[in-house]
Amino acid sequence: MIGTALGALKSAQQPDWPDPATLATVVDLLSEQPPLTPLAESDALRARLAAAARGEALLLQGGHCAEEFGDRALVEAESTATTLRQMAEVISYGAAVPVVPLGRMAGQYAKPRSKPTEERDGVTLPAYRGDAVNGLGFTAADRAADPWRMMTAYDTAARTLDRIRLLPGADAEAEVAGVPGLPLHVSHEALLLDYESPLVRVDEATGRRYAGSGHFVWIGERTRQLDGGHVAFAAQIANPVGVKVGPTATADELLALVELLDPDAEPGRLTFITRMGAEAIREVLPGLVEKVTAAGSPALWVTDPMHGNTRVAPGGRKTRLLDDITAEIRAFVEIHRELGTHPGGLHLELTGAHVTECVGGTDPVTLDDLDLRYTTACDPRLNRGQALDLAFLAADLWRP
Ligand code: PEP
Ligand code: MN
Repeated sequence: MIGTALGALKSAQQPDWPDPATLATVVDLLSEQPPLTPLAESDALRARLAAAARGEALLLQGGHCAEEFGDRALVEAESTATTLRQMAEVISYGAAVPVVPLGRMAGQYAKPRSKPTEERDGVTLPAYRGDAVNGLGFTAADRAADPWRMMTAYDTAARTLDRIRLLPGADAEAEVAGVPGLPLHVSHEALLLDYESPLVRVDEATGRRYAGSGHFVWIGERTRQLDGGHVAFAAQIANPVGVKVGPTATADELLALVELLDPDAEPGRLTFITRMGAEAIREVLPGLVEKVTAAGSPALWVTDPMHGNTRVAPGGRKTRLLDDITAEIRAFVEIHRELGTHPGGLHLELTGAHVTECVGGTDPVTLDDLDLRYTTACDPRLNRGQALDLAFLAADLWRP
C-alpha cells in the first residue's frame, strides 16, 4: 500500500469488517487501480481554490448527502451535476464573480453516524454507513459490512465521472468561470480509510502523494480529532482538503489543524466548511475567523448551512427549513463582511431531482409534502427548484 500506515492511529467511524482476509484482498485490488481523478486536475482545482481564498472567486460545493449504487443513482447524478452548473452560472453572472463548482459526488459513499446501531420496532441492527460499507435495507444481511462494496464504490465513482464528463458544457479544459465549459471537479468525505489509503498515488515527477479517489476530500465534524487517522491521512496528500467545523470547535483546535494540514500557509490548500446552525453561527464564527486569520492562515471559509439546521418533522422525518438555511447563509456573509474577511462560498446537500425533503422555497414544499418523494439515503436535500432559489439568494448577497 502506498499510503503511509495509519493503522496505529485511532480512527473514528470505521466499519467492523467481518473478515480480515477479504478486506486485504479488496485493499490490494484497490491499490492496483488507476486513480479516479488525474492528479494534475487536483492541482488545477487547488489553483482555483487559491483564487477563492484570495477573495477573487467563490466555491460552490454540492451534491447528495449519501450517493447510492445502481443505475437510478447514475441518472440522478447527471441532473445533480447540471443543477450545480446552473447554480454556478446564476451566482457568477448575478454577483459578477467567478464561481468554482465542485460536485459532492463520484465518491460520497460512506457516512459517519451518531449511533452505531439503529432500532426499529424492537429490532436492533448496525446503522447504515453508506453504500461503500453496507446496505440501506433494514435486514441483518443488508446491514452487514462487506469489503467488496468498496470495489463497487470505486466502479460506481468511475461510471459517475464518465457520465458527468459527457454532459453538455463539461469541458475539463475550460478554466474560465461563467463561460460554457466550466470544469466540474468532484469531492467527498474521506471517511473510509480502508478505501482512501489504497487509492493514494505518487506523482512520479514531484514525489508528492495524492488521494486518487477524487479531486478534493474533506474531513467530517466527527472525525477531525487532531491525533486521529483522518487528519493524518489528509496531512500526507497534496490535494486541496476541507474540514467541517461545528459549533463546539475552538480556535485552538482550528489553529492546530492549520499547523497540521497547511503548515506552509498556501492559499487553496485548506478550506474550513463551517456548519454551525442559524443561531449558533453568530456566537461562534466571528471568534474563530478572527483568530485563525490573525494567525496568518489563508484558509478559505465556506458555509454549510445544512448540517447545523436539521430538524425532526412531526411525522418523524429529518428535514431542513429553507428559512433556517437562508438565515445561516446571510449570517455567514454578514460576519465576514464585518470582519473584513472573504465569505468564500457554499457547501450544500442538493439533487437535481424533484424531491420533497427540505421545507420551503418559491414552489414550496410543506411539512405535509415530505412523504411524497422523500428518497434520500441519509440527510434531506434541496430539490432543483430550492437549489436555484438559493443560487439567486447567493447572487444577491454576494453582489458587490
Ligand atoms: C455530511 O456532510 O453529510 C456530514 C456528515 O457532515 P458533518 O461532518 O458536518 O456532520
Ligand atoms: Mn449529510
